[in-house]
Amino acid sequence: MSDHYIPFSVPDLGPAEIDAVTRVLESGWLTSGQVAADFEREFAARVGAKHGVAVSSCTAAMHLALEAIGLTAQDEVITSPYTFAATAEVIRYFGARPVFADIDPRTFNLSASALEAAISPRTKAVIPVHVGGLPADMDAISDVCMRHGLKIVEDAAHAFPASHAGRMIGSIGDVTCFSFYATKTITTGEGGMITTDDDAYAERCRLMALHGISKDAWKRYTSEGSWYYEIVAPGYKYNLSDIAAAIGRVQLARATAMRERRLEIKERYDEAFLASDVLDTAPDDSRCMHSWHLYMLRLNLDRSRLDRGAFIEGLKAKGIGTSVHFIPLHLHPYYRDTYGLRAADFPSASAEYMREISIPIYSRMLDEQVDRVIDAVMDLAG
Ligand SMILES: *Cc1c(COP(=O)(O)O)cnc(C)c1O
Repeated sequence: MSDHYIPFSVPDLGPAEIDAVTRVLESGWLTSGQVAADFEREFAARVGAKHGVAVSSCTAAMHLALEAIGLTAQDEVITSPYTFAATAEVIRYFGARPVFADIDPRTFNLSASALEAAISPRTKAVIPVHVGGLPADMDAISDVCMRHGLKIVEDAAHAFPASHAGRMIGSIGDVTCFSFYATKTITTGEGGMITTDDDAYAERCRLMALHGISKDAWKRYTSEGSWYYEIVAPGYKYNLSDIAAAIGRVQLARATAMRERRLEIKERYDEAFLASDVLDTAPDDSRCMHSWHLYMLRLNLDRSRLDRGAFIEGLKAKGIGTSVHFIPLHLHPYYRDTYGLRAADFPSASAEYMREISIPIYSRMLDEQVDRVIDAVMDLAG
């Protein structure tokens, strides 16, 4: 075992997920039906939201959320540059302008003061990202948004299960968007969920997720429904299949246990890495329940003999997979050139990116694999 490659991420799927998928395949109903409806209800209850709308990805969820709040091409949406492509591209789907505000370097999350400074008369909404699964400072962000009349659409792709100041992520912003992509804390292969307490937003997201058709497709084909339907808007095709939802329901039931295992790994990492002045442990916040989707190790570059690239190469040579979260959006050609952005515009995001390495943290990791990662990191840091 010890000489085997340790991948960066491995999904935790077992016989219960396989059985659940088999039952759907045998039922004869594959697309969005009762299983997806059950998954929506159970997920919403778990995060304390009134509504859940299951969709095909978190990207789709954010697209629908921005449509539901009425985003137009004249609007601006403020978000963090420290995120994945999806967070800002959904703003561009409307022709609206993404406005970036810098992160708090202690957490990788949108800074509430940078957010407030970026507000203009055109600002419509804010998309906080809970990077790595550590909730952004939702008290401070909500306060800014309340004072300026801005909507909050959360990118919670990393943040299940997670909470801020005792409130579950999924119950705080106007709309919250989760991802069930293969690498995320719970997975359906590809998938996502919208949660909201707002009846109108939920209804609009549900409508637009399925062609703007006024009746759920599955009802049309059962004896409960009729053949008649109406197209009331040019919607999208963003529904989640029952096959995927069946996996999601099992993963949801296992989510707490899987997080417990990631927390154990995080504690082993912290204990080891605190001994090195080359390493900063992953950010945490005592007010939060962190999902521990990512363990975001940071190098003290003035003390390290290796730069970030060499450190990653060193880990690879020792058979350990890593990733970097994230290459900030303002450094990518599209955003850099379209909006004339420079690294110096977002100094904290630019600096933290240079020293970040995400190391393996997943519930299927064995203790001996955790030990190998610790030994390798400590060796390269030493
Ligand atoms: C993975 C991810 C997304 C996109 O999720 P999909 O379900 O793949 O669309 C959005 N935001 C962040 C921060 C992510 O890491």
